[in-house]
Amino acid sequence: MGGQDRGHALLNRVLAGVPAGEDPVTHVAHIPERRARTVEWPKWTPTELRDALRARGVERPWTHQVAAAEAAHGGRHVVVATGTASGKSLAYQLPVLSRLLTDPRATALYLAPTKALGADQLRSVSDLDLAGVRAAAYDGDTPMADRDWVRAHARWVFTNPDMLHRGVLPAHGRWATFFRRLAYVVIDECHAYRGVFGSHVALLLRRLRRVARRYGADPVFVLASATVAEPARSASVLSGVDCVAVTEDGSPRGARTIALWEPPLLEDLAGENGAPVRRSAGAEAARILTDLVVEGARTLTFIRSRRGAELTALGARRHLSEVDSDLVERVAAYRGGYLPEERRALERALSDGRLLGVATTNALELGVDIAGLDAVVVAGYPGTLASFWQQAGRAGRAGDGALVVFVARDDPLDTYLVHHPSAILDRPVEATVLDPGNPYVLTPQLACAAAELPITSEELPTLGGAAAVEALDALTSDGVVRRRPAGWYWVAHDRPHSDVDIRGSGGEQVAVVEADTGRLLGTVDPASACASVHPGALYLHQGSSYVVDDLDLDNGLALVHAEDPEWTTVPRDLIDITVVRTLREERHAGVSVCLGEVDVTTQVTSYLRRLPSGRVLDQVPLDLPPQTLRTRAVWYTVSADLLHGSAPGGAGLVPARVPGALHAAEHAAIGLLPLFATCDRWDIGGVSTALHADTGEATVFVHDGHPGGAGFADRGFAALVPWLSATREAISSCECPAGCPSCVQSPKCGNGNEPLDKAGAVAVLDVVLRAIRADATATSA
Ligand SMILES: [Zn+2]
Ligand SMILES: [Zn+2]
Repeated sequence: MGGQDRGHALLNRVLAGVPAGEDPVTHVAHIPERRARTVEWPKWTPTELRDALRARGVERPWTHQVAAAEAAHGGRHVVVATGTASGKSLAYQLPVLSRLLTDPRATALYLAPTKALGADQLRSVSDLDLAGVRAAAYDGDTPMADRDWVRAHARWVFTNPDMLHRGVLPAHGRWATFFRRLAYVVIDECHAYRGVFGSHVALLLRRLRRVARRYGADPVFVLASATVAEPARSASVLSGVDCVAVTEDGSPRGARTIALWEPPLLEDLAGENGAPVRRSAGAEAARILTDLVVEGARTLTFIRSRRGAELTALGARRHLSEVDSDLVERVAAYRGGYLPEERRALERALSDGRLLGVATTNALELGVDIAGLDAVVVAGYPGTLASFWQQAGRAGRAGDGALVVFVARDDPLDTYLVHHPSAILDRPVEATVLDPGNPYVLTPQLACAAAELPITSEELPTLGGAAAVEALDALTSDGVVRRRPAGWYWVAHDRPHSDVDIRGSGGEQVAVVEADTGRLLGTVDPASACASVHPGALYLHQGSSYVVDDLDLDNGLALVHAEDPEWTTVPRDLIDITVVRTLREERHAGVSVCLGEVDVTTQVTSYLRRLPSGRVLDQVPLDLPPQTLRTRAVWYTVSADLLHGSAPGGAGLVPARVPGALHAAEHAAIGLLPLFATCDRWDIGGVSTALHADTGEATVFVHDGHPGGAGFADRGFAALVPWLSATREAISSCECPAGCPSCVQSPKCGNGNEPLDKAGAVAVLDVVLRAIRADATATSA
């Protein structure tokens, strides 16, 4: 049988194991093979570099590698945005190493979002064994004794944004020689810089450029990205320089069969408020993995949580023990061991077939060199299409077919995707969303910039323009910055860097500490501490469970003890939202759509203890202070006439149904926003009310979960019609009778998913969309 049919053959094998009466596959697509396109090495490639790359097996480079390398060599900032395993490293290694070999004084900087990826890339460069390149790591693991050597002698420094922020830029004087000679800055996996973290990194890169300029250097930026929409624009916003994009992928890829899979509703199990539940994506993935392993297919399964990955591997091993006990040992969970040796061992075991099945979290997305597998199972939408294709891209060797199965979780977005294949298969991946103008990011970043070098007025346009002036005024009135004729000077005693958390958690983290041993288990955001580590909460850490004894918000400390109860805890909260400022407003007949600043006040008032069966043991009151978050929100209002009206154009809802209809529409809209903004449903929140004090009407708010916003609400506003249309479709295409986790129930509802009105939500969304579309038709006519 031809290799091209292998994907289909594997799918048929998996379907043969499905119980009679179940029909989980909603769609099958075929992606044809892509052949390699190679070109000659650029003429300027030094012979020793070409020989070293040939010795590694690169006979001729692919077209996109050379296109990007040529741009960089010619002094153009460039982003290469191509698929998984398309050899993006070579696109920057070629110009950077050529320069380092031909100009013995030049230096280069490499940035990766994780230490693991940086270590991999450093090894790849070091293995070429080129004389005089002197590549070295400079990160949190670099011994103090080695740091002086790196500063003085390394020519290609591999680091990460955290170290650049805390270790390099504040001490730029000690790096003077390195900066003076800086020719290239490489930003790898740049799509990882999104949301608040991305906004911080964008400003960090502007700080890097001004420090380099101070020493007379103007480095060329080379960015590598997963396939994303508008790569040139995203890369330019991130780096602050105009980038050209290279997107034509010249690497070969085997044909792939892609199956969309929806686990069946379980007959005999009821969830919250009696709603039906589906078989879990993890359990389904374990069965699929089992069948694929039996077929001898090397398979990677992606699961969203670490615990889920372990359970799926365990499930597959249990199934295998009944079929062929020899296969049990060939399935493993990838337990997030980030040690390079562990990852190398895993790569080797999978590539030589000693391991046939691995279940992993998204941790494997970055920094593991695994490609050309026979099958990939994606259990639960990973949050972005970019991630989905990155995971799916692990399957498919040139000349051989492969299978990708996407298994929907019990969630409105996943439901929508398996019922609307074009939304996952034909849509361009999302552009990365970040907002360097967020005042909660800009102000601390400008404090760091001023502490590094005084800020001159000529620099303001690149540092945020009018928003930068506002931020500098605020720093001036705080007395940490002083305005002098030559610019803004840092005058406070201590440097601000260590107080600025670029991973963007908004303030001091709450430490979770085991009281008996004093061991630090982890940290949680201050904003979510009341919900996740309130007294009595069950706290999970690396598969072990703990119960919280005390939460001290003033000192940022939660004390816990080890305990493994049979119940889990679910917080209940009261949320209030007030409009601070309306920034954009669009009015339609009976409907208005707004974008603005809001204050979201949350008070966790109690928690439920719940058994795995869903039965609630009790509800325990809590006495915790309210927390206020100033952020951005998108909202729509609906007039009473439209809601209650039974005439054409009205939703025909009696008043008692309105709160449930709005609440259900809000939940589903939160679930679907990640399709349009590169966010996670946990990055955003929502409030709905039948009568809001500020708008005077029924209102549904969806807000960013970070102080100052992260650009997600802005995206929702910009894509309102497709977003709400998808929301309506997700609700109406779910076959449950009255709402379930696949459509309108939310896993993070502070109100216990009460009240919810599934049909009412569809009616509300219909009138809102009709009102907006009527205007759109009127204007375009
Ligand atoms: Zn449903
Ligand atoms: Zn809710």
